[in-house]
Amino acid sequence: AVMMPYPAQGHVTPMLKLAKLLHTRGFHITFVNNEFNHLRLLGAQQSQAAVDRLCSLPGFRFATIADGLPPSDPEASRDTPALIYSTMTTCRPRFKELVVKLNEEAEASGGAVPPVTCVVADSITSFAISVARELGLRCAVLWTASACGFMGYYHYKDLLDRGIVPLKEEAQLSNGYLDKIIDWIPAMPKDLRLRDLPSYLRTTDPDDIMFNFFIHEVPAMSQASAVVINTWDELDAPLLDAMSKLLPPIYTAGPLHLTARNNVPEESPISGIGSNLWKEQDAPLRWLDGRPPRSVVHVNFGSTTVMSKEHMLEFAWGLANTGYAFLWNVRPDLVKGDVKAALPPEFYAATEGRSMLSTWCPQQEVLEHEAVGVFLTHSGWNSSLEGICGGVPMVCWPFFAEQQTNCRFKCTEWGIGMEIGDDVRRTEVEAMIREAMEGEQGREMRRRVLELRQSAVASARHGGRSMRNVDRLIKEVLLA
Ligand code: UDP
Repeated sequence: AVMMPYPAQGHVTPMLKLAKLLHTRGFHITFVNNEFNHLRLLGAQQSQAAVDRLCSLPGFRFATIADGLPPSDPEASRDTPALIYSTMTTCRPRFKELVVKLNEEAEASGGAVPPVTCVVADSITSFAISVARELGLRCAVLWTASACGFMGYYHYKDLLDRGIVPLKEEAQLSNGYLDKIIDWIPAMPKDLRLRDLPSYLRTTDPDDIMFNFFIHEVPAMSQASAVVINTWDELDAPLLDAMSKLLPPIYTAGPLHLTARNNVPEESPISGIGSNLWKEQDAPLRWLDGRPPRSVVHVNFGSTTVMSKEHMLEFAWGLANTGYAFLWNVRPDLVKGDVKAALPPEFYAATEGRSMLSTWCPQQEVLEHEAVGVFLTHSGWNSSLEGICGGVPMVCWPFFAEQQTNCRFKCTEWGIGMEIGDDVRRTEVEAMIREAMEGEQGREMRRRVLELRQSAVASARHGGRSMRNVDRLIKEVLLA
């Protein structure tokens, strides 16, 4: 199987989990990164021995293709529209060349290396679906985002046809227009607001790259023979039902981080390989050890969020003013400009002994640590799943893409989150974190999130429904 993730952290991680599950069932895997991410993956390993191990795994190899962008800061995520445009316009021939080369090598090996049987493409790398079809290979796609996010993106075209977007003028971003109710999307809440839909519709430009990218990519998923999605039936039943009317057969395999943990044998040489593009620190876990249960706020805005220095200061003082201990992941590119200079000495003085700032933490383990009481998150789908599986209520500050939709579902549909306004204020941060940690609403959110955790764990257990769906995918599609 050739696995082609879209080249960003939130996509590489779930694709790698699915690759591990297929490897466990006997597939030889070629995992394709862009050159930029492959170098980062190698750079994020803890030692040369780990790099060597990564490059000599039995039945599992990495391959690279260029994404067409010039070299950029290896510490920073790439600009999303530039990366999208570049992968869309340059990757198809490179991917095809790679698959053809893999087959030539297989032939030359005289049976030692198997030829390519199937492609598992990210749902937003339609070039890989099209190559698979051209070469007569079976193809499944992995939708790495949420089911509610999918329904939002899928209906961009309808919003366009109804003249609701693109916006007529910039003023509509702030004059209440985004509060317009969109009550006609199947399986979505009847009081859904335009602002709850994936953020790329907040544009006045009919040629906006991101908006048009999703209008193009999402229907292209129908060219694949199956859609794997990182969720489980109990969480998303109505949405999955609506999606099944729009897409090829759907296989729920999530939460993939748990499905992989429970179903890939620990002794497998691939079980330990990680997908981090930043070097992971273990200090945060040590710092959490010994702290009282539910006493710490975990703060992490994922791999791509970039905020202004002003917003960062509001978060910093909001956190400081709660009086709680907090672990805050501050990526080097989290703010525009110099991140080190963004926080004043007074902040460090005020939070001494109860704050830990990291650059990249082992987030899944952090969220499962008993010391963590609340998760302040941007609401990326992986983080949202990890929050549910950690059993922690979430305070959400969605940044972009379908994070707005995830936030909406966490707040009103699942009852496990609270939303902070776009223009964040320190008083709001303080009040919401206090409520989530110790208030009545916080207690109710904790009760709900623990229920959801239970159903996630049941789906992802050894031999549970998610793994059975992976087995069905193999039988019905990948090896059919
Ligand atoms: N992540 C991590 N450590 C960090 C920050 C992020 O392990 O310090 C992981 C996180 O656990 C998640 C992924 O990076 O699996 C981020 O994906 P998500 O979909 O939440 O957000 P994105 O980065 O795509 O915005």
